[in-house]
Amino acid sequence: MPTLKFAVLAGDYIGPEVMAEALRVLGHVARQEGLALAPTAADVGGAGIDNHGKALPDSTLRICEASDAILFGSVGGPKWEKLPPKEQPERAALLPLRKHFTLFANIRPGLLYPELTGLSPLKSERIPDGIDIVCIRELTGGLYFGKPKETTTLPDGDVQAVDTMIYRRSEIERITETAIVTARSRKKKLCSIDKANVLETSVLWRKTVTEYVARNAPDIELSHMLVDNAAMQLVRGPNQFDVLVTENMFGDILSDEMAVICGSLGMLSSASLGAGRNSLGLPFGLYEPAGGTAPDIAGKGIANPCAQVLSCALMLRHSFGLEKPAARIEAAVRGAVTGGSRTADISFGGASVGTRAMADAIIARL
Ligand code: NAD
Repeated sequence: MPTLKFAVLAGDYIGPEVMAEALRVLGHVARQEGLALAPTAADVGGAGIDNHGKALPDSTLRICEASDAILFGSVGGPKWEKLPPKEQPERAALLPLRKHFTLFANIRPGLLYPELTGLSPLKSERIPDGIDIVCIRELTGGLYFGKPKETTTLPDGDVQAVDTMIYRRSEIERITETAIVTARSRKKKLCSIDKANVLETSVLWRKTVTEYVARNAPDIELSHMLVDNAAMQLVRGPNQFDVLVTENMFGDILSDEMAVICGSLGMLSSASLGAGRNSLGLPFGLYEPAGGTAPDIAGKGIANPCAQVLSCALMLRHSFGLEKPAARIEAAVRGAVTGGSRTADISFGGASVGTRAMADAIIARL
């Protein structure tokens, strides 16, 4: 029986609430599919600060290192917001995890079922079939990490700040490879987003993506788009895209735009894949909901567990190579939601179910 060894970092506020339900769904699938689950829970974020004095305790990091994947909840909230920026749960837990495991590829599905189009700020006639696209964001390079990164006072007394955008060809090639794998599992259509009319890094980006796809994936239909146009096209007609690939800052902005047009954060999951391989020879990855800890609804038992459940599906697919149970979970979530089981965030003000009942409805569809 295959054993799935993963770290469970539930985090704060609604993190543990949705994680408990996601693990229940995962446990059900595992029993049906003959898989042995070996989850190890550890504190992270505010829970790490409270219990160990650090958002990413050493003991948590060791558990992650000994695992094949990380199932992450979300971290942070009002309880810790007076801490200095560097000690804030999100910054002090997620960024070091990304760095430690070189999580360079962020895969964000933008999925809105046709039955939920009313949740999107876009007019329903623009998205009659809902939305189904994927954004792949480079996560460890570019403007957020390049040096020099500093603020200085100039001889004339003025103050100047500098950020540096750097990309190497090898960094662009490895994210292009991830995009190709994703595009091949869908419509084989890839759009690379850059700002090649202004930025040197984008000129290299476009050249590298073009050459890499021509050399390694002639079956993929590749197009390029400038980032300002992409921001507009996403709201004009998101389904003109299938898979998008872009650098760190553009991806940060576009993937948030994508989350908004998809209606509720409670439905969106994400995967961050590492450069390293796990003990199965597959990408080590961190899997988490796109949303945060939702302190406004924490403790009420009404948070939507779907994003966390869908994160489990992404983990099965990417870090354990288990496509069938992953697809079964995705179909069960879709079936439960379209069948009428809806938490408050996706119920259009109508009757809604709580976190646990939502998970029950998903399990019933499995
Ligand atoms: P948020 O995503 O937590 O909440 C925004 C809105 O979406 C809220 O109205 C919330 O109720 C709703 N929402 C989010 N997830 C939901 C779910 N599963 N079910 C139903 N509704 C849901 O963003 P915020 O309020 O800006 O941030 C709250 C805290 O979360 C902050 O401390 C922030 O730093 C942290 N945060 C953490 C992560 C992470 O851990 N990756 C990401 C974003 C924000």
